[in-house]
Amino acid sequence: MGSIFYKVTLHNGVEMPAFGLGVYKVEEGTQIEKTIQTALDLGYGLIDTASFYENEEGVGQAVRNSGIPREDLFITTKVWNSDQGYDETLRAFELSMEKLGLDYLDLYLVHWPVKGKYLDTWRALEKLYREGRVKAIGVSNFKVHHLEDLLLHSNEKPVINQVELHPLLSQAELRQFCQQKEIKVEAWSPLSRGRFFDEPVLGEIAEKYGKTPAQVILRWHLQHQIIPIPKSVTPARLKENADIFDFQLTAREMEEIDELNRNERFGADPDSFDF
Ligand code: NAD
Repeated sequence: MGSIFYKVTLHNGVEMPAFGLGVYKVEEGTQIEKTIQTALDLGYGLIDTASFYENEEGVGQAVRNSGIPREDLFITTKVWNSDQGYDETLRAFELSMEKLGLDYLDLYLVHWPVKGKYLDTWRALEKLYREGRVKAIGVSNFKVHHLEDLLLHSNEKPVINQVELHPLLSQAELRQFCQQKEIKVEAWSPLSRGRFFDEPVLGEIAEKYGKTPAQVILRWHLQHQIIPIPKSVTPARLKENADIFDFQLTAREMEEIDELNRNERFGADPDSFDF
């Protein structure tokens, strides 16, 4: 895991960057285009958007403007809750692709496990995958019971489960389940939007390595084989967040950060989300 260009291999053989940029709440237009251009210049290869973020057009524009070969970039988008169901998902996918202006998508995710619908949504993703429109398919916000249900009633296994995950919500049980099933875990709100940067243990570790608490947290993700997608629009922070490949936390330091877990969610609980 020596550089920002390091890749993980998904269970279907597709390679994906081990670290990326999330763009929730980055505004369509100049802001998204500038942010992505800065990130790509710094070596980011993975961009995580969603139809819900309403910035797919800017993501596509920035990717095309970058001049970087398409196959060197990994673009994720997601099907939103109100578009779930088989036909609805196929339609939503076409709309996302139109906005992105790309020939194919790298990863398409079911954004949330909408009760009574996510199995039909998944069948649509399987079709898109079989047809080669998307290189890999996965889910987001799935708990163990959602994954068990999906695995029982589907042909293709998700490659990824993207969930809220940070030291205050370390999701050990879910991570273990996913590892057994060869499903990679991707962390949303990997920095918990900066809520716990003043934890003394993070400060001490950060000082030892000449890093910031944000960098220590992102490094903790990498060493747990979690793919973090921190969001920032600030060039200095984009750089800071990517500068995590030149130090290594010890086993003891990893444990100290694990001990911060309080099973504390800041986002919605997938079981009580108001779909
Ligand atoms: P995050 O943990 O990445 O925090 C982002 C915020 O933290 C920034 O807005 C900024 O205020 C601050 N920050 C970033 N870098 C910093 C630094 N180096 N120092 C100090 N502060 C810093 O939270 P997020 O945006 O919620 O999550 C990241 C991405 O995950 C999103 O952009 C989106 O792509 C994805 N996401 C997915 C879901 C889902 O349901 N699948 C939900 C939420 C977010």
